[in-house]
Amino acid sequence: MKISKANDVLGTFNRGNPAESGLCTLCRSDCAGKCEVWLSSLRGREILYPRDYGKITAGADNITHLGVSYNSLRIQGYNYGSYGLPEGASNDPDNCTFQEVSVETSFGRVKPVKARMPIMTGALGSTKVAETYWDSFAVGCALVGVPIVIGENVVGVDPQSRMEHGRIVHAPELDRRIETYMRYFDGHGAVLVQINVEDARNRVAEYVAEKYGGDKVLIEIKWGQGAKDIGGEIEVFSLEQAMFLKKRGYMVDPDPDLQEVQEAFQHGSIKAFARHSRLGFTEFSRFEDIRSDFKKTVDYLRELGIKGVTLKTGAYGMEALAMAIKLAGENNLDLLTIDGAGGGTGMSPWHMMQSWGVPSLLLHAKAYEYARILEQKGGNVPDLSFAGGFAREDHIFKALALGAPYSKIVCMGRALMIPGFLGSNIQGVFQPEKKEKFGGNWDRMPKTVADLGSSPEEMFAGYYDVQKRAGKNEMPFIPYGAIAFWNLADKLKAGLQQFMAGTRKFSINKISRDDLGSGNRETERETNIPFIGAAMDEKAREILNK
Ligand code: SF4
Repeated sequence: MKISKANDVLGTFNRGNPAESGLCTLCRSDCAGKCEVWLSSLRGREILYPRDYGKITAGADNITHLGVSYNSLRIQGYNYGSYGLPEGASNDPDNCTFQEVSVETSFGRVKPVKARMPIMTGALGSTKVAETYWDSFAVGCALVGVPIVIGENVVGVDPQSRMEHGRIVHAPELDRRIETYMRYFDGHGAVLVQINVEDARNRVAEYVAEKYGGDKVLIEIKWGQGAKDIGGEIEVFSLEQAMFLKKRGYMVDPDPDLQEVQEAFQHGSIKAFARHSRLGFTEFSRFEDIRSDFKKTVDYLRELGIKGVTLKTGAYGMEALAMAIKLAGENNLDLLTIDGAGGGTGMSPWHMMQSWGVPSLLLHAKAYEYARILEQKGGNVPDLSFAGGFAREDHIFKALALGAPYSKIVCMGRALMIPGFLGSNIQGVFQPEKKEKFGGNWDRMPKTVADLGSSPEEMFAGYYDVQKRAGKNEMPFIPYGAIAFWNLADKLKAGLQQFMAGTRKFSINKISRDDLGSGNRETERETNIPFIGAAMDEKAREILNK
């Protein structure tokens, strides 16, 4: 399928080149619009429909499917039935509207987590954008009632954090991130804190267990991500910070302790440093060693009192995928996130994003296959969260259906950051005194926003819904980025409800692989989802022969 830069029907266009997800390959925090996610962050569910009602007709440009990707899956629709209605509810058409579809979900064996929608953020770690726009992401997620993931290295790179005897004893940035979310947490959603090699060395899990208790925060063991198969990177623009990070045990490139590097930096030849994390499991070459080391790690976390433990793996090949499913299952983890190539939220090397690893659809199709094998052998299959290039409601439905019944929630990285950027830019114009705090980039309202109104109440379709959820007195404390997040969630929720109503599934756990069709034979071969023109053909013939 060709991804166009402009969508005439929705009145949206991409600032840059669209990726498979529909987002630009380079998404900028100062963007003045206006892709579908950007506009939905203002207008919510309005963006489900063609513009200019009453003056237009519209038709899809997504009928011919080329290649194997989530865009080559189609969603079924049925002309009868209703499944998954609440116990005792009537299946009368009056009761089976799309608004009645429940999109609530839950995951977890040891520490069950409920969410009002089947979405969670990607890992928002030590990258600058995650730090700058955290308030918007955290408050937005908490208000909507979905989980948020604090990514790796947040403690290690925090210049205010303090180590004593080789372990973290003071971590203000991590505290800020957890507490901002918790202020509006109402029992739906959760905070997950990732630990990688350096976080484990710095004893971040011990800090979390002692400070927050084992029940409040989940720990996510990080094996990898979709964007790259080396550890996380950030860019550092000061020599002092680069030297501090090296002392903290990170790899910093180029080495800021070298005299020639210092000289180059002082004279402007080198303008920044890259901080890298380490690879995991370098000392192992056999599955059995990894298996016993992984068990030791999980047992240790549980001894610390941490109840919720999850695993995130990346776009590694099939061997690593099988390991992740097997080990997450046998250690009774609460969730396994499987991230396909190639998006990232920080500074992953570009050609690594382009060229490494298994693309999302291929990886997720295999994840289902392996989970099924494990289950048939009597093994324990963990709850799954698929990630990698999801931005829209059709993506959420497809990811849940492809991995059903194991897939419980969908992890979305770059898309869920856009409302944080956009809301902060708007807030910076209305409240210049808060521009720096929230990371606003604009001095004036661009026409794309000004055309929608002259006040936040007019611009954000969900303003009064947020006010109802948070309370009028809280509104001065709610970042505009969180209101924008609410709007995007509203659009995704209504869109998902509509797809579910069309498949007659009134609750998430009724979504199944049968609800998908492959748009071409190649996708059918790779996913085992029948070609859309042949799915249910047998049933059709039975009817004709009756
Ligand atoms: S918000 Fe990001 S993805 Fe959307 S148009 Fe702007 S740069 Fe592109």
